[in-house]
Amino acid sequence: MEEGLPVPSIFLHAKTEGIEPMEKVDVTIIGAGIVGLACAQQIAEPGRQVLVIEKNAHFGMESSSRNSEVIHSGLYYPYQSLKHTLCMEGNQLIYSICAKKGIPYRKSGKYVVAANNAHEKDLHRLFANAKKNGIAGVSLVSGAQVRKNEPAVRCTSAMFVPSTGIVDSHQLMEYFLSDAQGKGAEVVFNVAVTGIEKAGGSGYYIWVKDADGQPFKFYSDRVVNSAGLDADDVAQMAGMDVDKESYALSYCKGSYFAASGLNISRPIYPVVEKDSVSLGIHVTPDLAARLRLGPDAEYLQSREKNYRVNQEKKESFFASVNRFLEGLDPSCLSADTAGIRPKLQKPGGPEKDFVIVDEKEKGLEGFINLIGIESPGLTASPAIAKMVKKLIA
Ligand SMILES: Cc1cc2nc3c(=O)[nH]c(=O)nc-3n(C[C@H](O)[C@H](O)[C@H](O)COP(=O)(O)OP(=O)(O)OC[C@H]3O[C@@H](n4cnc5c(N)ncnc54)[C@H](O)[C@@H]3O)c2cc1C
Repeated sequence: MEEGLPVPSIFLHAKTEGIEPMEKVDVTIIGAGIVGLACAQQIAEPGRQVLVIEKNAHFGMESSSRNSEVIHSGLYYPYQSLKHTLCMEGNQLIYSICAKKGIPYRKSGKYVVAANNAHEKDLHRLFANAKKNGIAGVSLVSGAQVRKNEPAVRCTSAMFVPSTGIVDSHQLMEYFLSDAQGKGAEVVFNVAVTGIEKAGGSGYYIWVKDADGQPFKFYSDRVVNSAGLDADDVAQMAGMDVDKESYALSYCKGSYFAASGLNISRPIYPVVEKDSVSLGIHVTPDLAARLRLGPDAEYLQSREKNYRVNQEKKESFFASVNRFLEGLDPSCLSADTAGIRPKLQKPGGPEKDFVIVDEKEKGLEGFINLIGIESPGLTASPAIAKMVKKLIA
């Protein structure tokens, strides 16, 4: 266990007394990414024992620390989809949490740009979707207006989205973690869930292994599967046929390049076509004004979590953004990080919504699956947590 973090009493007992279930918790949350932590923060309360189990040595080591840190507006997603409604709600919640708790953020707004006339039609389609989705304050602006605010951007026209911003996602996760712990939630690291078995009446036995390979099990009344890239495997552990349920995840890698020598003050996104698997290679300044280009979208053939960035992509990254940026020198690009999206959408297939459901209709009451929580999962995290809290109740 990591130093300084509480070791739940259930694990200490289980270790000394064998692998029989020794204790009971009310809710087990699998995964300490931003979604699992937000759920713990919402669900924990006096008298309810909440346990978060994380296989890595620290929180947020997977998708939650490998993203663009953009607070999305909700403009892209189908009307009334979970991605749309939870993103919009999460957008407001994140701004309010950050303002109250002193978490660094900037409500910068963003431009979605039509680099040339051929992109105008898709820009207008996106604008119509933004209006339909009720995104406040969106407006179409001319290329000249964009240039006034962002001299390095060239485009024929653009959509300005004022509710987009950037957040320090690490500090947001730290807040969710410490608030959850303050309300009595226990969080363990270096412990992996390896099996889930429905108990006779209600609830589940959960098998875990710690970093030494020591197996043990305990009982949990409810389970929240927020295992990100492994959420389909965890659902399978509980006995679900993930192919039949269409829960099998494909891994879609997104690489980033760092860029220097250019002054951009807000995220700049290209227009994307319908059913695109990503939002296109965009330019995002972080809170320290460091610029990153990306992510691209590359479906992986295997389930290996391979975060290496292929240097050879530099030219294609440059070509993508050179359509709407002026003054960028290819020699100023350097390979940066990568993240992997847990996609329900298959290559070439239609876009899929988040799956957030209590699986009672499949005989697994109290087992709450969160599957396919790709972008805008960071933005939506506090709203997802509120939805999970309702399901738990
Ligand atoms: C390239 C990229 C860019 C993105 N950009 C944005 C953005 O700008 N804005 C936005 O809103 N969203 C963005 N997203 C999406 C966002 O990052 C994710 O939706 C969000 O981080 C998902 O959080 P999570 O907690 O569900 O998953 P994760 O962060 O992956 O956490 C899941 C956790 O579960 C743990 N786990 C898995 N299996 C087990 C097990 N058996 N036992 C114990 N623990 C287990 C893992 O170790 C992991 O820590 C982006 C994603 C990517 C990949």
